[in-house]
Amino acid sequence: MKKNYTTDAINLKNYPLNDNDSIIVMFSKTKGLISAVAKGAKRPKSKLGARIQMFIANKLMLLEGKNLDTIQEAQSLNTFSRIRSDLDKLSYSMYISEIVSNFCSNKCSQDENNESIYNLIFSTYNKISNSKTKEEVLLSVLKFQIKLMDILGWGIDFKTCSICQKEIETNALFSFNLGSFVCVKCANNDVSCIKIHDKIREFMQTLLVSDFDVETKYDKLVNLKVLDKCFNFMKKYIDNISHKKTKIFEVLNCVSQ
Ligand SMILES: [Zn+2]
Repeated sequence: MKKNYTTDAINLKNYPLNDNDSIIVMFSKTKGLISAVAKGAKRPKSKLGARIQMFIANKLMLLEGKNLDTIQEAQSLNTFSRIRSDLDKLSYSMYISEIVSNFCSNKCSQDENNESIYNLIFSTYNKISNSKTKEEVLLSVLKFQIKLMDILGWGIDFKTCSICQKEIETNALFSFNLGSFVCVKCANNDVSCIKIHDKIREFMQTLLVSDFDVETKYDKLVNLKVLDKCFNFMKKYIDNISHKKTKIFEVLNCVSQ
């Protein structure tokens, strides 16, 4: 017999199934990444219509299906409405939904990390939505990148050389071949190494160990240039691990040219 179940979920993508129905890809608190049909969502008077937009968090009742589950009821928890009124907020939020889709496939649906990942996406979208500056947006995205990798077991050790296991005092290098930090002595001829300034390393380490909503001593000091550098560093690291290049910023560049 088909079963109903309830879960909180955040919409990451939606696309049409036919003239009336849509398919929604969501990250749910209990089952991780799920796809479900929203019947009649494309009809003008549909109650579901407004709830299936991207980046909305809903409390859902779903009916299990053979291939796809069906959304029975949706009650919005947070619409993160200000994400949709700003191109920067929108593109960084799309970037987040893209990496979540890349990493959290349906296969790991029993994963005990689902709740932490759900809470992390929720906090990040909430922060992005309420941000007043691009610095605030980027800081939240950077926290998301660092923390998501940590939850998934790909966390970066910002303090230790991955080869000699010694703490790196100064002049650390990041090897993209190894996906980890190395000291000057161990770097040898690794051409994939880039220098990461000690202060930047300390900044990212602080973001890693601080709770998402806690303001660190850097939050007010850090400028756009540094944030952009850190974001691009994490983006490259994440793209390398997933073997997929996140496309959202390339798409936007094409559109704006
Ligand atoms: Zn070393």
